[in-house]
Amino acid sequence: MKKLDMVYEGKAKKVFRTDDKDKFVVQYKDDATAGNGAKKGTIEDKGIVNNKMSAMLFEILEKEGVPNHFEELLSDREQLVKAVKIIPLEVIVRNVSAGSFSKRYGVEEGILFDNPVVEFSYKVDELGDPLINDSHILALKLATEEEIEHIKGMALRVNEVLSELFLKKNLKLIDFKLEFGKYHGETILADEISPDTCRLWDTETNEKLDKDRFRRDLGNIKEAYQEVMKRLEQ
Ligand code: UDP
Repeated sequence: MKKLDMVYEGKAKKVFRTDDKDKFVVQYKDDATAGNGAKKGTIEDKGIVNNKMSAMLFEILEKEGVPNHFEELLSDREQLVKAVKIIPLEVIVRNVSAGSFSKRYGVEEGILFDNPVVEFSYKVDELGDPLINDSHILALKLATEEEIEHIKGMALRVNEVLSELFLKKNLKLIDFKLEFGKYHGETILADEISPDTCRLWDTETNEKLDKDRFRRDLGNIKEAYQEVMKRLEQ
């Protein structure tokens, strides 16, 4: 496999073509942004943690029945993935109120829901990723009814698997964001799963071990990412 030219550069990752048209190389960066790019910075070695952690979680999820784009780890910061076409939806699953949910509905953070909440945002930076519902998705032809149901089912399965896994590591999975892509007609999980895209709170202390430390200037950001990885490896 040969890594060729860069096809896409996002806020946290670069994507390269390879000599296999069905495979991309994803390279994880240390760059961090928040508030749709309003706040910028770097978190030392974040790319290494997020690459390793995504790889590990994608492998587990594949075994647990959630097909995804991960193929193999290539280096500290690079992984080989299936060359999917990303569906421009952010699929968010919430177990506990936090972040934009708390802001939008005027409720405190930390309220445990009876059932997980699944919501979608339309992934368009210029629009600020607006919240979008099923009928909007159908109207905009972003996905069919069957695809929406399939995506929700996979997102809830990811929630079951990861909530249980993190709980064993004394971490509460508060919420997370997933992205899905099309690969030879099939809709599969793609993008990343990391402290950039999940909220994780220590079960004992409720300490935040995720990107909120960066968003909210809480300090010890690098250490929080390393701590999550350390617990996963134990
Ligand atoms: N999230 C993400 N990328 C985004 C927006 C949200 O990875 O562009 C993640 C975020 O880290 C959190 C969950 O999705 O784990 C829910 O985020 P929320 O809607 O509360 O938005 P935020 O508070 O980050 O603006």
